Amino acid sequence: MFRIAVAGNPNSGKTCLFNQMTGSNQRVGNYPGVTVEFIKGYADFSNEKVEIVDLPGTYSLTAYSQEEIVARDFIVNERPDVIVNVVDASNLERNLYLTTQLLELHVPMVIALNMIDVAEKKGHTIDAEKLSAILGIPVIPTIASRNKGLDKLEEACLQTIKDKTLPKAVTYTHELQHVLPELTEIVCGYSELCGNFPPRWAAVKLLEDDEVLLAKMKELKSTENLEKAVQAAKAKINAHSNEDSNTAVVEARYGFAAGAAKEVTHMSDVSKRMLTDHIDRVVCNRVLGPLILCAVVYLLFEFVFTCAEGNWIPTSITFESFTSPVGVLESLFEWLSALTTAHVTTPWLQSLLSDGIIGSVGSVMGFVPLIFFMFLFIAILEDSGYIARVAFIMDRILRIFGLQGKSILAMIVSGGLGAGGCAVPGVMATRTLREEKDRLITILVAPFMNCGAKMPVYAMLIAAFFASHRGLMMFSLWLISWAFALCCSFCLRKFLIKGEQTPFVMELPVYHVPTFKGLLMDTWHRTYMFIKKAATIILAISIIMWALMYYPRLNTSSLDKEITTATQTLRAETAKTAYAPLFAETELDKTIKAAANPGAETVQTGIEKQRKEFVKQLEAYKAGENPATPSSVIAFNKYNEQRDQKENAFAEKQLVYSFAGRLGKSLAPVSKLAGFSWRENIALIGGFAAKEVVLGTMGTAYSLGRDSVDEPEPLAKIIQHDPSWNKLRAFVFLIFIMAYAPCIVTLVAIKKETGKWRWAIFSTAYSTTLAFIVATIIYQVGLLFYK
Ligand code: GDP
Ligand code: MG
Repeated sequence: MFRIAVAGNPNSGKTCLFNQMTGSNQRVGNYPGVTVEFIKGYADFSNEKVEIVDLPGTYSLTAYSQEEIVARDFIVNERPDVIVNVVDASNLERNLYLTTQLLELHVPMVIALNMIDVAEKKGHTIDAEKLSAILGIPVIPTIASRNKGLDKLEEACLQTIKDKTLPKAVTYTHELQHVLPELTEIVCGYSELCGNFPPRWAAVKLLEDDEVLLAKMKELKSTENLEKAVQAAKAKINAHSNEDSNTAVVEARYGFAAGAAKEVTHMSDVSKRMLTDHIDRVVCNRVLGPLILCAVVYLLFEFVFTCAEGNWIPTSITFESFTSPVGVLESLFEWLSALTTAHVTTPWLQSLLSDGIIGSVGSVMGFVPLIFFMFLFIAILEDSGYIARVAFIMDRILRIFGLQGKSILAMIVSGGLGAGGCAVPGVMATRTLREEKDRLITILVAPFMNCGAKMPVYAMLIAAFFASHRGLMMFSLWLISWAFALCCSFCLRKFLIKGEQTPFVMELPVYHVPTFKGLLMDTWHRTYMFIKKAATIILAISIIMWALMYYPRLNTSSLDKEITTATQTLRAETAKTAYAPLFAETELDKTIKAAANPGAETVQTGIEKQRKEFVKQLEAYKAGENPATPSSVIAFNKYNEQRDQKENAFAEKQLVYSFAGRLGKSLAPVSKLAGFSWRENIALIGGFAAKEVVLGTMGTAYSLGRDSVDEPEPLAKIIQHDPSWNKLRAFVFLIFIMAYAPCIVTLVAIKKETGKWRWAIFSTAYSTTLAFIVATIIYQVGLLFYK
């Protein structure tokens, strides 16, 4: 009959396992000489009769407690055929400490890796095979309480008994490994010691000052050699680690247990907590935290601009030239606009389609790549768990300004991380704040953040005036938006919405690597919401704004008359030249178009060939060379310039005459203080409806005044070459766009969240007033230094 001893930590499930194996076939016995009881049971393992002993649970096998001595003596003296070491898988490291000591005893052993259900609930997955390989003994996963894995355990026990497999020797720390072989050899010379114990174990125990072993040694005769060897080994260890040998042994065992546990445990979310705590020690650090935050935000801007505006999309399959995502969309809308101009001849419809719809929506859509990559980066920050740290880091600072840590979420959703976000969900995100006053203040300052809709205007002005400092410029705008928000919340808390602040509680989620699919879904959803907004509200407003700018119409008869006179003069001057046919009734318009578009491809036959030659000469003349046929070239050039001038002047007059022009003009004397012309006024009026409209409206306002060009230049280029624009004006305009009135949709959200239109109106009034005061101050002070 085989004998099996069940050993393990208290509460690891030994008794449970024992009961499952033996059923009711149990007997209570006493260990010889001590009062500690033990239970014996009998079972059949594949027709083999076995006796099983449930040893007392211990954490260690030192000689400190009676249980420990009993368990150890049983193993050493009774020599069971196999030990079943029950290991609580949910506390692997601590349990392996005892396992290490059992391994030292060098007897056949099997591990029952029990409570794996509990371990799994904790998020630990344990690689039993790997553990088996490390220890050199079978490791069987079990759930003793549900009788799971026990048949495999029985099999493994029989196999181990049959094969007499012994565990691998435990590897200790370097200094122990160094002294052990020599000491073990000397211990072997004392057969009385070796007779009952494995020599290596006895050697380790002597280094541990194990009382039982020391007593045994005292009984022996002529142990000077051994004692000397022990002292020498202890001295060596001490010299090495500056620790007494006892501590060194305990630490070595812990090291082994911890190493093995780490090696075989895969941590899922719950146990990532540990890793999370380590990361948080850095990320939430008082000094490092804010620095890391700044670095992350700066990285965000660089990432977005590089991805959206960098040329990385091949334009041909040969990979010879590249364009950017923004470039792709720009060309698409330019193409659409050219298409309408070519096929729609009714002036008002052409204007509505090309300027009102394609122009405005196109300008906004051109920034979809920027918004996409912005949201992508923010989704990474959110999914990884960093956003919550931002709230944690910011609480201390935000409290000073009358906000609280959780306000940061609303701010970030509104665009607080940079130029991506929307105040509408931002205002709604304040629902997580329980304190009504904190909520109200957050709602009132969140619209200062750089939402995605302000971004197209930023990007346009930055491209026009600060192209070489994009990242830095966006970074400054980010800082300024926060300055606005914090100053306002401070003042609101101080003067308007007074009250005590509630303490901050926020659960910090564990960090994890976001999934690609999750990121894309999130990013696409947000981008799609933006596109939808651009396609619906913005389209509607664009049409209204176009009508405001297109009507009422001026009578064109005086312009027509002037142009007719000029045309007659041109024909008279060129009548005798070879190029005269180019200025005939049916050809003049084509010649004007060709002159405006010298690079365009044409058929090289007949009059088209002649036109091409003429345009070439005209270009040469403009570049300062003497043309071969001076009279017609000079005459046409003069005519063309005059006509351009007259048309532009008329278009401008027309715009001033329009509804929007009248409103914008009437505001101009005031807005002049901040450097805004009536054109910007029109755009800003449109922006009350939605910030996305600002850019489109501005585009319409500028291109309507300059529509002698067939291909509408991007707004940035027009403004860049407009002498009335400069860096100061651009900067002030940026600031104003950032700070003035939230859009209509946000106002509706504010009304919904606060329950009162009063707050929506207050929000518009105070932010617009503040924005104008700040813009005026910057502009006026700037004028003193900037010429
Ligand atoms: P001992 O102190 O090592 O004898 O542990 P016990 O056998 O008394 O078990 C302690 C508790 O753990 C008991 O309530 C058992 O029902 C329970 N238990 C034992 N094994 C498992 C297991 O694999 N999974 C779970 N969930 N509980 C177990
Ligand atoms: Mg028990």
